[in-house]
Amino acid sequence: MSAARFPWLEGRARLTPAKTAVVEAGTGLRLTYAELNRRVGRLAAWMQQNGIAPGDRVALLAPNSAAYLELLFAAGRTGAVFVPLNYRFSDKELAYVLEDCSPKLLVCSDRYAEAGEKLQARVPITLSQHEYKAVVERGQESCRPVSADAEAPWAIIYTGGTTGKSKGVILSHRAILWNAINTAASWGLTDEDVTPVYLPMFHTGGLNALTMPVLYMGGTAVIGDQFHPGTVLGVLERERCTIALFVPTMHHMLIESTEFSDYIPSTMHTFLSGGAPCPHNIYAAYAAKGLQFKEGYGMTEAGPNNFYIHPDLARVKVGSVGVPMLHNEISIVDEFGAEMPPGATGEILIRGPHLFSGYWNNPAATQEALQDGWLHTGDLGRRDADGCHYIVGRKKDMIITGGENVYPLEVEHILAAHPAVSEAVVIGVPHPKWGEVVTAAIVPQSGAQLTVEALKAFCAEHLARYKVPKSFFFLSQLPMTPVGKIDKKQLVVLCSEIA
Ligand code: ATP
Ligand code: MG
Repeated sequence: MSAARFPWLEGRARLTPAKTAVVEAGTGLRLTYAELNRRVGRLAAWMQQNGIAPGDRVALLAPNSAAYLELLFAAGRTGAVFVPLNYRFSDKELAYVLEDCSPKLLVCSDRYAEAGEKLQARVPITLSQHEYKAVVERGQESCRPVSADAEAPWAIIYTGGTTGKSKGVILSHRAILWNAINTAASWGLTDEDVTPVYLPMFHTGGLNALTMPVLYMGGTAVIGDQFHPGTVLGVLERERCTIALFVPTMHHMLIESTEFSDYIPSTMHTFLSGGAPCPHNIYAAYAAKGLQFKEGYGMTEAGPNNFYIHPDLARVKVGSVGVPMLHNEISIVDEFGAEMPPGATGEILIRGPHLFSGYWNNPAATQEALQDGWLHTGDLGRRDADGCHYIVGRKKDMIITGGENVYPLEVEHILAAHPAVSEAVVIGVPHPKWGEVVTAAIVPQSGAQLTVEALKAFCAEHLARYKVPKSFFFLSQLPMTPVGKIDKKQLVVLCSEIA
C-alpha cells in the first residue's frame, strides 16, 4: 500500500492555530495557521465546485504574496498541481509555459493583469485578484479532501533558465515534504524561526528552500515584494526575523548599502546564500556584525536543499557548502561514473526522497538527468579529506582553452579579491585558434582606478598562466536572469560583440 498525502497545513492548524504563519510585509496582511487553513479550505472548495479535478494544473501570476502558499496548499488538498509563473517572463515565454503545462485555472493579480489578459484564451477558468479575494475571504469552506498518493505531483516549478529554456520540474507530495523534513532536521529549524521571503516565489528559492520548511516547523514566513536593502533590513528587525536566504546579488546589494553599516541585528542569526556562487568577501561583512553566514547548494530538481555546514566550520572553510544533509546522499563521479577521491573534481550526483519525479512533458531530459535513482546535476564539485564539499561550477561553464580546463569560479574568486573590483565574472568566448579564450567581465568599485595590466598581474600572482583572462571588459552592471543569477549566456554574446 502506498502512503497517502500528508495534510500538514491542517495538522499545523490543529497544533498551533493562533501562531502567525504568514505575513505580507508590504500589505500588512497577517494570517495565523488557523486563518491560513480556512482560506485554503475555501479556495479548495471553490476549485472543486468549479470542476478542478486531481491532476489538473492551477497557475498563478502574481508578485510574492500569501496567494502562492494558499494556492499551493489548496492544490494539495484537492489533488491539483500548482504552477507558479515567472512574472519576469515576456508574453512569449509565458505563452510557452502555459502551452507546456496547460493549466485549467489561472489566478492573475492586478499587477500582471495586462500579461494575464493575453493568456486568458489559453486557460478555461481565470480568477482576477478581486474574485480571488472574495473566494478566500468569504467562500464556503466545505472541501472534500482528495486522498491521493504521496507520489502524486503537487507542483511544477520551472527552473531558472540559466543554461537554456526553463524546464518544468515535477515535485510530488513526497519530494516537498522530504525537503521540509530534511532541511528542518539538518539545519535545526524550530517554530521560533521567522524567515523573510524576498526570492521570487515562482522559483524554488522563494517557495521551497526555507519557506516550506519553516512553515512545516510552525514558524513564520514574512513575504516581501521588492528587494530594497533599507526596507529589507527594516523588515528583518520589525518582524523579528531569524534566518534569511538570498542569492549572492542580493547579499552584494545588502552589504554595500549605507543602511547595512548602521545595521545592528537583534534576532537574526543566520544569513544563507544559494543559487549561484558566492563571492568570499560577503562572509567577512556578516562576520563583522557577529552573524553566521553559510553557503548552500541547491537546485529545483533536488529539494532544493542538499548540504549543511556548521557555522563555526563555515568560517574556517570559506566557500564550502559542508556535508550532505540527514536524508540525502551525494556522490562525486568521473565521466565513467567512478567515485572520485578527496580533492578531485567530478560531477555531483544526488539521491534522496526529496528528488523530483521528472521534467513535465520532457521524458528525454528526465532520462538523462535521473539514472538509477541518482540525479545527475550537471554541476562539478569536490570534497576535502573531512568530507566537506565545494561547488566548482557548471559542467557547461567549464572553459577549454588550448586543451586546458579552466573553472571560471576559481578565477572569479581571485578577481573578486582585488580591492578595486566590485563584481567579476569569467566566461569562455569562442576563438578560432584556442577554442575558447578566458574572458573577464568586471564591474569596478565606484571611483576605483583599474587597468587591464594591473588585473592581469594580480591574477598571475595566484593562477597558472593559461587561467589568467586574456581579455577584460569593464561594465557598469552585469546582465541578470529573471531569478537574479548572472546571465553568462548573454554575457558571452555581449563580450563577443564588443571584442
Ligand atoms: P536551468 O536548469 O534552467 O539552466 P538553473 O540551473 O539556474 O537553470 P535552478 O534550479 O534555479 O536552475 O538552479 C540550480 C543551479 O544553480 C545548480 O544546478 C547550480 O548550477 C547553481 N547553484 C546553486 N547553488 C550554488 C552554489 N552555492 N554555488 C554555485 N552554483 C550554485
Ligand atoms: Mg539547472
